[in-house]
Amino acid sequence: MTKRTLESARDQAQREWELEPARRALLKWFDRYGRALPWRDDPNPYRVWVSEIMLQQTTTQTVAGYFDRFLTQFPNASALARADEADVLKAWQGLGYYRRARAMRDAAKIVVERYNGELPGAREELEALPGIGRYAAGAILSFGFDRRAPILEANTTRLHARLLALEDDPTVARAQAILWRFAEAWLPRESPRRAKGVYRRVNSALTDLGRMVCAPNHPQCETCPIAEYCRAYDAGRQYELPRYKPKRAPTPRLDVAIWITRADLGVSGDPNDVLLVKRPKEALWGGLWDLPRFVDVGAQGEATALGWSAKALDQAQAFLETEIGAAPRNYRLGPVITTFKHAVTRFRVTLALCRLADSNWYATGASERTLFDLNNNERFDQIGREDRSDKKTDARVAEEWRWVKCEELEKYPMSTTGRKLAEFIKRETQVEKK
Ligand code: SF4
Repeated sequence: MTKRTLESARDQAQREWELEPARRALLKWFDRYGRALPWRDDPNPYRVWVSEIMLQQTTTQTVAGYFDRFLTQFPNASALARADEADVLKAWQGLGYYRRARAMRDAAKIVVERYNGELPGAREELEALPGIGRYAAGAILSFGFDRRAPILEANTTRLHARLLALEDDPTVARAQAILWRFAEAWLPRESPRRAKGVYRRVNSALTDLGRMVCAPNHPQCETCPIAEYCRAYDAGRQYELPRYKPKRAPTPRLDVAIWITRADLGVSGDPNDVLLVKRPKEALWGGLWDLPRFVDVGAQGEATALGWSAKALDQAQAFLETEIGAAPRNYRLGPVITTFKHAVTRFRVTLALCRLADSNWYATGASERTLFDLNNNERFDQIGREDRSDKKTDARVAEEWRWVKCEELEKYPMSTTGRKLAEFIKRETQVEKK
């Protein structure tokens, strides 16, 4: 053994020795204050997997409302693999980030084909499944299989960074390497005499402590069970660490959704039927249903008197003629009926709903308010192609489309904003009928 390896082994042993009393204090605290969470009862690997994927980007409170329902509908990987994608997306509706649900279903199919329906217990095999990264694999291994596998998520990142008084931004590679090593050092070495469930308990306790005590803005160091091992607290720096690079300000963006009925296109059938599209798989909200929606409507300077850039209209026109087969016509976009604000990745989006304008609307001389006015003079910058979060929608607006009765809109899985649009249309149509 070289001198360097020897020193590193000694450091490792030293760290483990130091962490032993801290671990005891942590577990004592956990036994008393640890959170009771639905997925902690009967933590089999499948249940852990579902909960961990749901918890990515979503709060514990929100997930708690979905978890049991999802498990009732898809109690194991085989049931999930057999399910229709639309049913999975419908069960996921409201959780957002639908790519997670599609990836889980794809992964479930592989689990059935390769592993007889049971999640594998090896890190490499787990990480090879769609949607499972280093964190999710560690969670499934430690919580589901009680194996020695570290985890690092937002709560434990903050906790470990403070315990170590880490100066670096925790997201940079160097800091990540240190934090993962530290997360692993908390876990006792594999031993036949180890207490059953110890890995599950240590990782759960670290997560809970980070969430409940080592809170982002108000760490409760006076009641922290491991305060005596904390370097940030020792130095009085618990409020300033960890230090993240400042986030870029969100970019404002304008999206246009178009409410199109059979009547608008002169198609026979119930004139109120609404045109719905199934978003292409590769796009944001792929596989969900939506109104035809167009992004990248151009820079502020291109806004017309109606508030639309020529780009949105061009895209809509091309979509109607080539994908829907509508008769070539000079379609116009009507006034903004309503707007919703929401966030997509780094964009702060204003989603505007409009109809295809008919000649009557122009004849009435309706007020020519612009979207620019509607949004308090907020500047909408043109989005650079490299920044587009759903650039693949350039190629296709829809994987499939159909005319849907207003009262049946709710049967279709939709994103949160899609659902809001559908509810708005349903309400408006009912008012018009009265
Ligand atoms: S002492 Fe304070 S800063 Fe340190 S781990 Fe505990 S709560 Fe966090």
